[in-house]
Amino acid sequence: MKVVIIGGVAGGATAAARIRRLDERAEIVMLERTGYVSYANCGLPYYVGGAIGEEDALTLQTPQSFYARYRVDVRVGHEAILIDRAQKCVRVRDLAAGRTYEERYDKLLLSPGAKPVVPAAAQTDDARVFTLRTVEDTLALHDFVVGQRPASAVVVGGGFIGLETAENLAERGMKVTLLQRGDHVLAPLDRDMACFLHAELVRQGIDLRLNTPFEGLKTDGELAVLTKDGAIGADLAVIALGVAPDTALAREAGLELGMKGSIVTDAHMRTSDPDIYAVGDAVEVRHFVTGEKTLIALAGPANKQGRIAADNICGVGSEYRGSQGSSVIKVFSLTAANTGLNEKAARAAGLDYEKVILSPADHATYYPGARLMTMKVLFERGSRRILGAQIVGGQGVDKRIDVLATAIRAGVKADELKDLDLAYAPPYSSAKDPVNMAGYMIDNILSGRVKQFFYEDIAALRSQDVVLLDTRTRGEYARGHAEGFVNLPLDDLRGQLSSLPAGKKIYVMCQSGLRSYLACRILSQNGFDCYNFAGGYRYYAAVHG
Ligand code: FAD
Repeated sequence: MKVVIIGGVAGGATAAARIRRLDERAEIVMLERTGYVSYANCGLPYYVGGAIGEEDALTLQTPQSFYARYRVDVRVGHEAILIDRAQKCVRVRDLAAGRTYEERYDKLLLSPGAKPVVPAAAQTDDARVFTLRTVEDTLALHDFVVGQRPASAVVVGGGFIGLETAENLAERGMKVTLLQRGDHVLAPLDRDMACFLHAELVRQGIDLRLNTPFEGLKTDGELAVLTKDGAIGADLAVIALGVAPDTALAREAGLELGMKGSIVTDAHMRTSDPDIYAVGDAVEVRHFVTGEKTLIALAGPANKQGRIAADNICGVGSEYRGSQGSSVIKVFSLTAANTGLNEKAARAAGLDYEKVILSPADHATYYPGARLMTMKVLFERGSRRILGAQIVGGQGVDKRIDVLATAIRAGVKADELKDLDLAYAPPYSSAKDPVNMAGYMIDNILSGRVKQFFYEDIAALRSQDVVLLDTRTRGEYARGHAEGFVNLPLDDLRGQLSSLPAGKKIYVMCQSGLRSYLACRILSQNGFDCYNFAGGYRYYAAVHG
């Protein structure tokens, strides 16, 4: 059997290695357009910033090492330019030699990835304007930064690559402006969770411009990025407006395409042509939570799909069971992570969801170094299915999101999070881990012991005949409180119950949601109808700005 693979990075290289492990006799040819194979896309921004010091560290394999280990014929600088399905061959251009040739296949695997979205207004040959996808892109940006010592940069786009690039350019001492079209960075997060990142970006000196769509470039003379609010001069610009499946070859070959030109496959990663498989950023996937078709451009799915395609090529019938978009990113001193659906996606899917928002410490607060994280967990009313989670904080965020991602995969019910038997010692967690705490809160909500209200409810509540109570200490209240909330510290509450108007609804806030929960328990057992503010004043202040 002869297998030709187009694209030699996450999905392609994984598939090549797996095919070899399953079939010692297969002939495997891997075509890669760039000069590098099996490189670490995810590490590219950190080479620009200097956290990864050696260029060699970006390339996990060379064509020689791949051949030595796996006997795969890796051809870098070779671009597939046409798929002839009738003849079962690929036309290939050797970019260095400038010649083309045909490569016959029994099975073809497409892992061409995604290409940066570069709108017409950003298309230029100007050497001060960059995108970041390949090692070559990275070396060009790195060399410009190190060689020209630019003082300022504009990063266009506040997604994963934009944020990582902004941070790494700032680490080089540059003044960085970050443009974002919408009202928050990082689309997998809801705006409230992204607000913590906004504060961190500003604290770290990034000039964050939200609601500022990119309108174009001025490249004659001094470089400037154009926006509705005027031109922003800079020594360099990075266009990071997202990615689109790189599927021109598949389209020309007449393979069935789906969303945004992505390649349609079945669960075996087989395309509409039974001899052609496709994986990675280029393919449409099923969302694990909604079951709907979606695009998820992440390394984990690409690697898994590469292995699954290889299995099927070799006669092992494994299946891809969908993506849930689990991701994590470092934003200076913060970590942001998500899995499954955010609120926007849950609403779009028409799901009847409920949420909890909590601010647990990553480990026991009496052990040095504990930091609070903000965690939001969404679950479906009725079915109690966990729909998604988002966490922003310091250390320990990645661990909790992975527990929640696993819980979603395993079908753990939202209130069953309290039952998870998680490892604990003071430097690492608390006896009630943050994930357990989310489970306790959900259990209280489902059992009707606690009713909640949310940030988005507060504006309307201010004009209603209700009591808005802040149960923090007088000092905390004096340092800042939500407009309209009156202070009644938790420890004074029992003694002052008679001063509260009977029959009025009481809405309670504290710093993190714990003392207001305790207040709600006191109040409800004394006959009051009360509601606990999800997230606490800490969250309110971050979202309110
Ligand atoms: P790729 O890994 O992009 O490989 C596709 C390869 O195919 C490319 O090298 C391309 O040159 C080659 N190719 C395309 N067409 C042809 C052709 N016609 N002929 C020959 N070769 C061709 N994901 C995460 O989960 N976490 C992260 O932290 C993360 N960080 C990232 C940071 C950056 C800067 C980038 C660019 C991506 C990051 N990603 C991250 C995304 C992740 O790298 C991708 O999801 C993953 O690499 C997709 O794998 P793939 O095999 O589909 O495509």
